[in-house]
Amino acid sequence: MRGELVAFDLETTGLDVETDSIIEIGAVRIVDGVITDEYSTLVNPGFAIPQETTYITGIEQKDLRGAPTLATILPDIAHFIGDAPVIAHNAIFDVSFLKRFGLLSGNLAIDTIEVTSIINPTLPSYSLGSLVEQLNIELENAHRALDDARATARLYIKMWETAKTLPKSLVQEIVRYSQGVDWPLRIFFESLLEIASDDADTPQVTIDADAKEAFDLPEATPTLPVDLAAIDLAEINSVLGPDGQLAQSIANYEHREQQVAMAETVGRAFNEQQQVIIEAGTGIGKSLAYLTPAVLWATKNQSRVVVSTNTITLQDQLIEHDIPLLQDALDEPFTPAVMKGRANYLCPRRLETMRRRQPTSIDELRTVIKLLIWLNGRPNGDRGELNLRGNENYIWSRLSAQDEDCTSQRCTVTMRGTCPYHQAKVAAEKARILIVNHALLVADAKNESHTLPAYEHIIIDEAHQLEGAITSGSMVRIDEIRLTQRLAELGGMNKGLLGDILRYMREHTSDKERSRLEIFVQDVELAIRAMQQQVTRYFESLANYVQDTGQQNKSQIRVTPAQRKVAEFQLLQAKWQQLAEFFDVIADAMKHILGILGSLNESVLLNEYVTSLAATSRFLSDRRQQLDEFALQPNDAWAYWIHYRGDTGYVAIQMAPHNVGRYLEDDLWNKKKTVVLTSATLKTGNGFDYMSERLHANHMLMESTGSVFDYKKSALVYVPTDIPEPNQPHYQKALERGIISLAAALQGRVMVLFTSYNQLRETAASIAPRLALGGIVVYDQATGNSQESLLDRFKSSEKAVLLGTRSYWDGVDIPGDDLSALIITRLPFAVPTDPIFAARSDTYSDAFNNFAVPNAVLRFRQGFGRLIRTRDDRGIVAIFDSRIIHKKYGRQFLEALPDCRVEQGPLDNLASITQKWLDESLDTSDS
Ligand code: SF4
Repeated sequence: MRGELVAFDLETTGLDVETDSIIEIGAVRIVDGVITDEYSTLVNPGFAIPQETTYITGIEQKDLRGAPTLATILPDIAHFIGDAPVIAHNAIFDVSFLKRFGLLSGNLAIDTIEVTSIINPTLPSYSLGSLVEQLNIELENAHRALDDARATARLYIKMWETAKTLPKSLVQEIVRYSQGVDWPLRIFFESLLEIASDDADTPQVTIDADAKEAFDLPEATPTLPVDLAAIDLAEINSVLGPDGQLAQSIANYEHREQQVAMAETVGRAFNEQQQVIIEAGTGIGKSLAYLTPAVLWATKNQSRVVVSTNTITLQDQLIEHDIPLLQDALDEPFTPAVMKGRANYLCPRRLETMRRRQPTSIDELRTVIKLLIWLNGRPNGDRGELNLRGNENYIWSRLSAQDEDCTSQRCTVTMRGTCPYHQAKVAAEKARILIVNHALLVADAKNESHTLPAYEHIIIDEAHQLEGAITSGSMVRIDEIRLTQRLAELGGMNKGLLGDILRYMREHTSDKERSRLEIFVQDVELAIRAMQQQVTRYFESLANYVQDTGQQNKSQIRVTPAQRKVAEFQLLQAKWQQLAEFFDVIADAMKHILGILGSLNESVLLNEYVTSLAATSRFLSDRRQQLDEFALQPNDAWAYWIHYRGDTGYVAIQMAPHNVGRYLEDDLWNKKKTVVLTSATLKTGNGFDYMSERLHANHMLMESTGSVFDYKKSALVYVPTDIPEPNQPHYQKALERGIISLAAALQGRVMVLFTSYNQLRETAASIAPRLALGGIVVYDQATGNSQESLLDRFKSSEKAVLLGTRSYWDGVDIPGDDLSALIITRLPFAVPTDPIFAARSDTYSDAFNNFAVPNAVLRFRQGFGRLIRTRDDRGIVAIFDSRIIHKKYGRQFLEALPDCRVEQGPLDNLASITQKWLDESLDTSDS
């Protein structure tokens, strides 16, 4: 927007708009894109400000002593802002504060988070701190009002300039599309339209497609050769060996015997069609160890090898680093490709349909506009590029290639080759090495209509996460909002999908056909409304069940076969039977309408309606079956539970498979010729027993390569013996004392692994102000920043401590001196009340020793593995859980570690022992 605007920011004593106080205000005036004036003052709240506020803002009590009170400066602020539109970052917070004091009642408020996320929908984070870094915007003192207001103004100006480059036709569409929706940014785009010039070369909003032909799938999947030729294992050495092809193409190439040995094992697995589990020690270079024989095999046999990973980080490493190394080094060219699950790809056909009608919600409006702007940048249509928030993710799911009866033939015509899902399928068909993720691998193997092309050989990396990835990938959540929303989308006489169908009929069919359907849709609309009420009642009964059974303090309430027999649950079953009848009525209605539509002449638009109706019909039928299982006919391989939030009253039904080994055996192990499962951590105290049992892989060959690291020289394990056990009083204080003393001694360079968010938050709040006095910054996962951004900041900070939980136990790679000490706060036992863990435990006669302990040992080994990442790394792992030495099972944790020095002693010695260990290491490396 042009003209006069005021960007402002507040520093406050807390986040409660009703009770907290303003302690600083900064504002800058912008006229036609130029900052022309500034206003800034501290504000005395009349009481002592909390220590936390000083820590965040740097404003101290003494700074506020002579400052004016808010009452005295309110007229100045009102005068400065006048009736200009205001801009703030996360405007709802700052604007609400000023409104509380009678200001901004008539001012238009623009939120720079909203503006930036719309204009730049692919940025990883929209916090002001991260935006100034990503967009090179000047910010002197973050969390001081005037500096933040200036940065907000500069951000806004930058977004306005970026928006000016959007094609006029796109801006026109955004203005048209947002009509009738209460959206403050509409004025922004209307102003933009006023100055947009006609541009005959305006690019079409489209997904990049090289040519229509690129969309056509090959007629049939290339047949896999029957007589497969074995690869010569000597060839592996000629690639990976000390004088091999990689050594010739990579500077400072490091030959590793363990890598060659693993590659030969994988090569044998291809030659002899074996299934094998390989624990590949850290540092051996396992991805090249399996990629090398896989590429040799695939090129020799004109075949395809599928490589499955759990994380995008590993997928990126394979496709951007390891595979290009092999492409450069090997004589024979080969094609790699990445295929993701269907939910990751935009369905352009569905987007076209949604664009044609007005949005039904602000989230739909935002999502479609973000997509249009994103597509204007000619992306590849992959969800991973986009940063969507909250309910926008649900809208995406309605626009993705998931849940579609799609055929390439139809969309070749209607979408002119722009479907990213089919482009990915074409690329996958041509690939010799196809990278996928675990959830897609198993979902595809189960499904009869395959996303992946035919394959007989798989390598599963990060296999320790296979069970978890399949469990969460198969998890189902059903709640009232989604069910009623989906029913609402069906609509009725004048709205939603049924309304669209009737409109179409009015224009394209005879009166007789149309009136037949109109009468029917009237009844269906009534049935949908009645069903929505029934859905609401059903979820109310679910909440009542939680309260009547006294479980309202739990967030996950498992439903076991025994609980299905109690009277309260039987009431719930009766409610379900009532709701199930509505599912049946609506399903019959869908079938009837589809029958009518099927008898009409085909047209592109009609096809759209048929597909959408069929998708809704399938959604309702899936939900009916899942709810029936939950209430009446549980599957014995699945766990069922109620998700409940006492503070909001939110209630949902959830379910997930607890026995995924059964699926793996039926759908993969029994059907594929070569299977390689690998990871750096697959063994527990009993070798491969635990993992092979969980994955139903007892028949596989098992090997372990060992590591290339000398842990005796590189790692010291220290267990403080004089601290309480984790659940006892004073443990938290001892933990904080230990972190502070270690961080102070090492000047940062410490990572702390937690098993609970609450403890992480409590620890961060307590240690951060104290470490700040020594210039040490604490980065913690609870701030909501992405793991990648936190790791970047930790590595680039001179003195920093990193606090993480969950994915930090195995998804972190910090080589070198940036990380010298790792603190494991407690042994990583799973929460026993977790419904899936509990369901799995029920299948063991001695669940603690045969399931809980090995499960925790595996996680413990993964956590330990964060410390030493290269041959030159040195460091200490401090274990703040004395159960590791006091309890009988503790021995299994220590025995599972690589051969390294273990010491015990008082907490107070931790810092000095660490310092001594690192100094000794320095001496050794100097000599
Ligand atoms: S092929 Fe499928 S995903 Fe692609 S545009 Fe058509 S319906 Fe959508």
